Amino acid sequence: MSGTGEQASGCDGALTARACPGCGSRQARRIWEKGELRVDGCRQCGVYYANPVASDLVSGRFYDRLGKDYYLTPDKLRSDYAAVRFARELRFFRRWCSQGAVLDVGCSTGGFLYRLNQFGGYRGEGMDVSGPALAQARSQGVAVIDGSFLDHDFGARKYRAVTFWAVFEHLADPLSFLRKAAGLLEPGGYCFVLVPNRKSLATRILGAKYRYVMPEHVNYFSRKTLIRFVERVPELQVVASVSTHFNPMVIWQDLWRREARVADADRARLLQRTTAWKQSRSLKLLRWPYALAEKCLGRLYLADNVAIVARKTDRDVAG
Ligand SMILES: [Zn+2]
Repeated sequence: MSGTGEQASGCDGALTARACPGCGSRQARRIWEKGELRVDGCRQCGVYYANPVASDLVSGRFYDRLGKDYYLTPDKLRSDYAAVRFARELRFFRRWCSQGAVLDVGCSTGGFLYRLNQFGGYRGEGMDVSGPALAQARSQGVAVIDGSFLDHDFGARKYRAVTFWAVFEHLADPLSFLRKAAGLLEPGGYCFVLVPNRKSLATRILGAKYRYVMPEHVNYFSRKTLIRFVERVPELQVVASVSTHFNPMVIWQDLWRREARVADADRARLLQRTTAWKQSRSLKLLRWPYALAEKCLGRLYLADNVAIVARKTDRDVAG
């Protein structure tokens, strides 16, 4: 515990300097400062990234240590497995991939695969650096692979789809993950990437005040910088992008909040409450204006997240 309230809780304090995770350049300008967090914007490719970052975040040890207290709170678990939690991701995913082997990297407690498996025709497997989260996924019948994605030897195994839901913002070197994912895809297979939208309405209004500008988030992509980033892997071609999710309560709370950091438990509680509201009968009347607002923001790429799907081209079939 750093006790500063700003460094990611549980980090040991050692810092690692970074070049741009998008293009490797070191030419950047300072964009945000928030407590000990420093976020730079790359002058070459436009990706925003935390620099320096806590070494524990780079290695992934941080997420394993977070353990039960973070991943397995009743509030978080309730929203992880709720039908609405991954509804948008599932809609997007199923439009492109209707069956086959699916690898969910950074699966956390397995909420996405838990829902995906209910459709039938899929063989889902999850991976995560957090032991307690994986144990929870397994207890829900989700197949998981132990070990680090980059180090794991998949042998000749190929997947119809590899998904990264809200993962790339946490990775010190997301390009290595993307390259490995491309190598695991069948020809014509799909890679899905969802990240917080750096150009969302919330970020435009709140800037560094936004709760998701936080030490655990070490990369910040817009739709444009994400597409450019994914297409740095020659075998991947982005075929569609969407902007999804909108939580006006977060904007409202963050506008008035004085302390820089929102406690993990508070964030989980609001997520669970929002999930409950979305399911509530008494708030039915509010549902369509909310859905309309989300749709409009999505069309304008101003919603909270951006997601892309990239197709593996046939170019490297021989390799
Ligand atoms: Zn760059």
